[in-house]
Amino acid sequence: MTCRPRFAVPPRPAAAALPEALAWIDEGLEALRRDGLERPRRVRTGRQGRVVDLDGASLVNFGSNDYLGLAGDVRLTKAASRAACAEGFGAGASPLVSGHSTAHASLEAAIAGLLGTADALVFPSGFAANSATIAALVGPGDTIVSDARNHASIIDGCRLSRADTAVFPHRDAAAVDRILAGSTARRKLVVTDSLFSMDGTVAPLADLAEVARRHGAMLLVDEAHATGIFGTRGSGLVEATGTSDGVHVRIGTLSKALGAAGGFVAGHPALVEWLRHSARAWIFSTAHPPAVAGAAIAAIELLASEPHRRTELLTRAAGFRARLRAARLDTAGAEAQIVPVVVGGPEAAVALATRLAAAGMFVPAIRPPSVPPGGSIVRVSLSWLHGDEDLESLAAALTEALE
Ligand code: PMP
Repeated sequence: MTCRPRFAVPPRPAAAALPEALAWIDEGLEALRRDGLERPRRVRTGRQGRVVDLDGASLVNFGSNDYLGLAGDVRLTKAASRAACAEGFGAGASPLVSGHSTAHASLEAAIAGLLGTADALVFPSGFAANSATIAALVGPGDTIVSDARNHASIIDGCRLSRADTAVFPHRDAAAVDRILAGSTARRKLVVTDSLFSMDGTVAPLADLAEVARRHGAMLLVDEAHATGIFGTRGSGLVEATGTSDGVHVRIGTLSKALGAAGGFVAGHPALVEWLRHSARAWIFSTAHPPAVAGAAIAAIELLASEPHRRTELLTRAAGFRARLRAARLDTAGAEAQIVPVVVGGPEAAVALATRLAAAGMFVPAIRPPSVPPGGSIVRVSLSWLHGDEDLESLAAALTEALE
């Protein structure tokens, strides 16, 4: 498939003076710059891939969530084109009105098949799936127990629900047990990522399922970074750990390893039906384009036909982590294809990322609020597209820079 890319990006007209009512924004931005927390945005030209062109520089790409190399795969582009051809580009309405197309229905069946659940529901994004689902399951007077390193969409869902939220130390199932023992709430919800996006650590799913079961609590697991990577079928860590009976609400994204976009919730049909009546980001948002559903279906099919992508990725990731640990770099307990290298201060993280970019590698610096204060990292995101020589060059550059 040949494309004629290269969008023109015309310069913007000069801005007028900032209105007095918005003067506080200037002060806020100045404070961010002072604290080393300014976040410039780079412009990518062309597809995601092993090498990415950012602001005109071609860099080996350690800064995407395209773990299986599917985001730029032409088979997804073709599947999207076929779906758009059949059902048009825009969904045109929310799913409850007329936005739910055969592409969406087929995608939900494919997700349920992948996860081995009786039903699934597709959301416009993983963020919407988390925040809307949590707010639909609990309310004022209920208790949420949430891991300290959970994703922002989970944190926002907790706030949106207005339930009492107790944050437990990262991966500490015994703390969950204590908190639940002290709760007299009508409904209790334990929430965790399965693979943590910034730490590369894995939740103790079997322990959490056992604790939730003993206290009659619901257990929600966000598999955003594990979907497509773990388990014999590639559905995630719930499958890999054999905990599907104890995990009531399974959330994932189509936007990372699956190379498409959108989020999903999978589980019992009663749960899905409840969400269709109460998850506001699903009810009041336009269904995502049928083309996206078409691409996501193609990606799920590729999980079955090309399992070597995930197994090879995990093998190479284990070698890479061992290499960094042997060089005494702090990888913060990472256990998967996400490998943080802890640097400390935000300026030091940016300096390291700049140095790696000068050596031809894109590794983003991650600073607060994405990580706790003092915990800035460079986040290495490994993809099946990387070769052994890419990993060796990065390990050597990191070791040299941090020695
Ligand atoms: N959960 C986690 C753990 C994530 O890292 C993200 C995205 N960064 C999301 C949910 C949201 O997914 P999406 O990008 O599809 O909105």
